Amino acid sequence: MNVVVLLGAPGAGKGTQAPSLSERLGIPVVATGDLFRAAVRDGTPLGVEAKRYMDAGQLVPDEITVRLFLERLGRPDAAAGVILDGFPRTAVQATALDVALGERGERVAAAVLVDVPQDELIRRMSGRWICRAAGHPYHEVFSPPSTAGVCDLDGSELYQRADDQPDTVRKRMDQQLGALGEVIEHYRSAGTLSTVDGLQSIDEVAVAIDAALAAVGVLPAMSMGQAAG
Ligand code: ADP
Ligand code: ADP
Repeated sequence: MNVVVLLGAPGAGKGTQAPSLSERLGIPVVATGDLFRAAVRDGTPLGVEAKRYMDAGQLVPDEITVRLFLERLGRPDAAAGVILDGFPRTAVQATALDVALGERGERVAAAVLVDVPQDELIRRMSGRWICRAAGHPYHEVFSPPSTAGVCDLDGSELYQRADDQPDTVRKRMDQQLGALGEVIEHYRSAGTLSTVDGLQSIDEVAVAIDAALAAVGVLPAMSMGQAAG
């Protein structure tokens, strides 16, 4: 089972990298933000509860998040491995993941931090559009879709997230970056952390992630450099 954790601040580019990495590794992406947005859209009790926190730019409490995540991890398509985008986001979640994998005799194979300075994160989120069907991200300047308002990957409509408004973006930075630091420390001390420069182009970041994964044997060395096509 290959479990790869993509780490980074909100807006770092995790959701941009995850779909192509998923194709290269042949394992699905699990993005807790997308799971929460689906629960909000479906109006489930968990969605109603999560929405209060999401609208305020806060992390959803660990108990709810871990429950949602473990339910997803238990589905059959996750058996060969998963790329985690946006989970774990606290030290408690990182430990819960270690325990859940430990029960299966598995561990996190690699945690890759996409490192981007804060002023750039704000620029990225304020121009972000995501698709209704799967949350595939675009940027009106840095990564526009080929047809305005339409997802290149699945043809669904693009929209701007309510929590990408400037006020909420600033709250998310204030509320979430401290916890991210703890998660980075968790993987640094486990010896599984690699850091890539997230200020590079989307294709260059993909190549750097592949190189980090090849270095720990998650990808064969020969697929390095092929990410950019
Ligand atoms: P971004 O891609 O900008 O980092 P996400 O789509 O991953 O944002 O998450 C949107 C919101 O969903 C977060 O601001 C938070 O409220 C909630 N959320 C997502 N993942 C988690 C998590 N692992 N723990 C707590 N809250 C989460
Ligand atoms: P995250 O999932 O980490 O919150 P996203 O993948 O949604 O971040 O990216 C945030 C925004 O930045 C999106 O609008 C995306 O199109 C854009 N973006 C992602 N990677 C890059 C990059 N390397 N250079 C410029 N813009 C990027």
